[in-house]
Amino acid sequence: MQDAAHRVLKQYFGYDEFRKGQGEIISCLLSGKDTVGIMPTGGGKSLCYQIPSLLLPGTTLVISPLISLMKDQVDALANAGIPATFINSSLSFSDGKKRLIQAAGGRYKLVYVAPERLEVPDFLQALERMDVSLVAVDEAHCISQWGHDFRPSYRLIADMIARFPRKPAVAALTATATPRVTDDICRLLHIPQTSVVVTGFARDNLKFQVIRGQNSDTYLNDYLKKNRDQPGIIYAATRKEVDRLCDRLRKDGFAAGKYHAGLSESERADSQERFLYDDLSVLVATNAFGMGINKSNVRYVIHYNMPRNIEAYYQEAGRAGRDGEKSDCILLFSPQDIRLQKFFIEQSEMDDTLKNEEYHKLEQMIGYCHTESCLQAYILRYFGEQNPEPCRHCGNCLDTREKADVTEAAQKVLSCVRRLRERYGKTMVAKVLAGAADQKIIQFKLDSLPTYGIMKDQTQRRIGEFIDFLTAEQYLAQQGGAYPTLMLTARSVPVLKGEARVLKKGAVRAAQLEVHNELFERLKKVRKELAQKEYVPPYIIFSDQSLREMSAVLPSE
Ligand code: ADP
Ligand code: MG
Ligand code: ZN
Repeated sequence: MQDAAHRVLKQYFGYDEFRKGQGEIISCLLSGKDTVGIMPTGGGKSLCYQIPSLLLPGTTLVISPLISLMKDQVDALANAGIPATFINSSLSFSDGKKRLIQAAGGRYKLVYVAPERLEVPDFLQALERMDVSLVAVDEAHCISQWGHDFRPSYRLIADMIARFPRKPAVAALTATATPRVTDDICRLLHIPQTSVVVTGFARDNLKFQVIRGQNSDTYLNDYLKKNRDQPGIIYAATRKEVDRLCDRLRKDGFAAGKYHAGLSESERADSQERFLYDDLSVLVATNAFGMGINKSNVRYVIHYNMPRNIEAYYQEAGRAGRDGEKSDCILLFSPQDIRLQKFFIEQSEMDDTLKNEEYHKLEQMIGYCHTESCLQAYILRYFGEQNPEPCRHCGNCLDTREKADVTEAAQKVLSCVRRLRERYGKTMVAKVLAGAADQKIIQFKLDSLPTYGIMKDQTQRRIGEFIDFLTAEQYLAQQGGAYPTLMLTARSVPVLKGEARVLKKGAVRAAQLEVHNELFERLKKVRKELAQKEYVPPYIIFSDQSLREMSAVLPSE
């Protein structure tokens, strides 16, 4: 069997070797075993069902939500001499019907259908007449409401499969599945947990980076200037932001286009097409620009705003470097993003359980933006990998700034959380530590706690960010929906006891901070005065490094 699969790989697709996971998934399917395949984006999931389709009798039915990609896939297969077709809402009623009749007659090896078709009883009846030996469920995470792109019609797949007189093999494929989503896929498609092939989620050619405490627009401009001719995607959270960024980039002479749900279908198709054929180098988009994109040479994906969770982030960022070449995945974090995402969740029509789940995922996303350990490893842990190795090339792995001892500050925060009996959230803890005097504090007599005001040399916002850091590094945990409470963790105990130290990069002690601040203010003034005289001597130009350091210790307004 394996030899036959190799032969098909070479003959139809022109490749010599299987990629990781492909061989295993294919031989499972050829022996009739239902299989879940979890491979990273660009890992080569399509071949996992396309090759078996050529070796098995009858037809392979492919369920895919990516209507815009079906035509490309089918054309590519046709070019390789493989009879394939698709049936979705882009066809007229009579065309759809015609293809269905041809498919039932055994004309195609592969038939791609959109899941919404399964809602049509006539369609299901026609399917039954097909000789289907393999059902491939692409983007299988769509079946789970814990995934980031739940499609109710995916729930009809199991019933559809049960209708065939001879049970076909089932392949469920996805790039983004948390353990919980994987469980759902297995349960809902009746695939045993032991038939899951995971090749890992790591994408070694991607360089992850989080930029914090810098002006996003300045950063973006500098980055784009350095990467002018490289194709890339910039994701922003709202249509308005997309419009604004795109206008600005065009004004600055970049070949920028935009994509969001507020544009007409033809405008969107136009942007996508022009980006695909490198007529546009930058595409500014909301998350509406999505699963359908199949451009392999995207060199960077920049998130202008923090997305709502790690799955969405990894999927969007993962559109970079599908050709395996080195690419950047940069997230520009600013604290307002948290408020915006909370607002989105609040406004959504999910029930409370789902909302709470979303809030929890958001906390993990915030953790990503504040961790100082390997970003790639953080993502892999999120997807359930045990003890992933640091990648050695992400922004955090390459950050060589010295670590400062912040144990004392950490102890202050942790003991405040304990004094508050783990009943309050981040904002309240920061307020108590900063010695704020708001109504709630007075009402609950929190100002009489021994930890009240013990960090009053710091702003509430700084303390909040420090709490985010402690959470990201698992010294604290957050629990509960929209207003999660801070809780101690196993890691906090030794810190409180003075048995473990907490280290933080780029941290500056309070005394240093004042000197910095004062110096910075004075230099700024001098520079301004000199600039007014149109004379900027070289010795007052701030180095990148000093600006970075100052913006790290200064509130960024
Ligand atoms: P996925 O669906 O996992 O994101 P695709 O199936 O679209 O990935 O494949 C991504 C790219 O990798 C395609 O261009 C495909 O032709 C290529 N590819 C797949 N398998 C192999 C292989 N064994 N050798 C070389 N290239 C491959
Ligand atoms: Mg795919
Ligand atoms: Zn790393």
